[in-house]
This record gives sequence, structure tokens and C-alpha cells, in this order.
Amino acid sequence: MSVMKQIAILGSTGSIGRQTLEVIRALPHQFQVVGLTGGKNIDLFGKQINEFKPRFVYFQDGEALTRLSSTKYEFLTLEDIACHPEVDIVVIATSGGSGLSPTLAAARAGKNIALANKESLVMAGEIITSEARLNRAQIFPIDSEHSAIWQCLNGERQPVARLLLTASGGPFLHYSPAQLSEVTVEQALKHPSWQMGKKVTIDSATLMNKGLEVIEAHWLFDMPFDNIEVLIHPQSIVHSMVEFVDGSIKAQLSYPDMRLPIQYALSYPERLPNPQLARLDWSTIKNLTFGQPDLAIFPCLRSAVEAGRQGGTYPAVLCAADEVAVELFLANKIKFIDIARIVGQALEQHQSTPHPTLEEIIAADSWAREKVLQLVGGA
Ligand code: MG
Repeated sequence: MSVMKQIAILGSTGSIGRQTLEVIRALPHQFQVVGLTGGKNIDLFGKQINEFKPRFVYFQDGEALTRLSSTKYEFLTLEDIACHPEVDIVVIATSGGSGLSPTLAAARAGKNIALANKESLVMAGEIITSEARLNRAQIFPIDSEHSAIWQCLNGERQPVARLLLTASGGPFLHYSPAQLSEVTVEQALKHPSWQMGKKVTIDSATLMNKGLEVIEAHWLFDMPFDNIEVLIHPQSIVHSMVEFVDGSIKAQLSYPDMRLPIQYALSYPERLPNPQLARLDWSTIKNLTFGQPDLAIFPCLRSAVEAGRQGGTYPAVLCAADEVAVELFLANKIKFIDIARIVGQALEQHQSTPHPTLEEIIAADSWAREKVLQLVGGA
């Protein structure tokens, strides 16, 4: 007899949140939604509440929600929902730095955390992983690359030699510096293989996303930076690979569909059949190619890996500076190539604190946001 897992989703109106609800809708006997939180999209959030009837709810504008939904629920904070005793798995699908505090709360409460938010591990990987170890919380990665590595590692006991993180390369893979300087917001938002939120899509176009994923992999799998390699794989079929000490390599493959890693994080250690997930049709796959990323064209990747290596508060500055720079680009206030330049300058001017406390991380985050606005204002 299987018991329904009780799921809370933080950030249910975003891309990952909506796809998590699609998985739950497709597997109604496996999962039940007990908590939902949203930030801006009140219409969609109201619909989600009426459909899934969660017991715990948070919305930024609580009053607007009361006017919209007739369903009964308890209004709690993100942190309270993340560590509520009735929640079996908390899905952290908020974007940017807002995921940090609830992720930490869930780690301290020893919860099962299905983690889609990159920034929390990048900014505070040392604190979150040590709290998770101490309180026996488990982190199930939702990011497709980390899910792939996790799936390759399952059942293995031998040491790992290298993690090979694949990257599609984004829409501007073969662009020249001159072409890159003329890129528009519309072009940057057209990702060749993945359906994602705006922030992640821009981060994929700059390869910042892959840099954040290298730092995330470092913390999730306790792997030195020297043993993590990024490979450009435009087909997005091989989601990442693990090389073992004997030279053997395992890979995880599927069509690029975030619902698969989301479902695996929810169903782990089981695998469930879901008719909505397409199977690979090998007759349509002509080739799978792999190449080295061009760090001169995509300096964000270099900056991110360097910030990860240096540690301290550099990764927090990286995340915050990038978040503001991407917002400015989306608002047509800066050019695409300015994102890398501004993030690089913020990192250069930062005085890092080694082994920072949460307060020091949050202070570095605020410092970086101010710094970016200053740099842009003075440009
Ligand atoms: Mg990814």
C-alpha cells in the first residue's frame, strides 16, 4: 500500500511551480498538495488554490487573496510552510535570493527538500549543506543537470573522479562579440531547447546559469571545483555525466522536459510511469555533440566558477549582482554584454568575508544590489 506524499510548493505560479503541479495532476494517487505560495500572479494563484485546495498558503498580497478565493486555508509564512510537520517534501521553486531563508528553515527542520532554486545553495552552500547534514535533511535536486548526476550516482559506492555538466550553450552559442553586443531581450528570451522562467533563460544565454550550476554541484556532491567540467551539448539530451575512478562514465538521457527531474525528486526512490513525458525516439536523433565552452565569449561562466572557488561572500555578490543586472537588461536599461561586465566589476570591488554567517551573506547581497545600481548610474 502506498501512502500519498504531502507536497508543499514555494513559488507555485513560476515555471517550475506550474510544472510541478502538472506532474501532481498527472499522478493524483501519489501526491497531494498541502501548501502553495506565490508572489505576483494573483489570478493564477487563485485558480491553483481552488483546484488543489492546499491547507497552508502564503501570498505576498494576503488581502487580495482573501477577496479572490473562497477556499478555506491557513495563512502561514514561507518558512513555516517549509518546515511544517505535515509536509513530506517541500519544493523550493522561488526564483533568486528569496529561496534562501525557507531552504535554510527546511534544512534545520530535517525536511526532504526538492530544490529548484539555485541561488540558495550558491549563496549559502556551506551553511545549508552543514545544517542539512546535522539535521538529516535530504536535498533532492530538481535542476536537470544535478538530477542527472544524482541519478548516475544512485547505487554507486566508489569514489567519483569527475562531474561532467552539460550546457546547451543557449541561443548565442556561435555569436561573435560584435553580434553579442546587439542582442535584444526578445532574442535572449528564445531558448533553443528548454522552457524556463525569464531569469533562468537570460542566465542560460550568458552561461551564468552554468556557472551557478557548477557551484551548486560543488556543494550538492561535495566535489572540488577542479573535478567539475562544463561541456557544450546543444541537443540537450545528455543532461550530465559522472566519471568514476576507473574511467567509466555514466550519463542520464531524456528529452529536455523539466517535469522529469521534478517527478524524480517527488517520487524518489521510486520511478513512476507518466504518460505525459515523451520517450526518446532514436530515429529522430541524428547526433549528440560535445565541445568546450568559449570563456572569452561567455565571461559570466568564468566569473561564476572563480567566485565559487574563492568562496566567502563572493558567490552571494555574484548572485545578487546578476539578479539586478538581468532585471536591468529585461527592462532595456542595459545591453546584454553589460550583464557580464557589471557582475565582473561588482566582484572585483567586493571585500569578501571568509566562512560568512547568514547575516554576512545577506549584507553582501544588499551591498551587491547597491553596487550594480551605482555602476549603471555612473556608466
Ligand atoms: Mg539546469
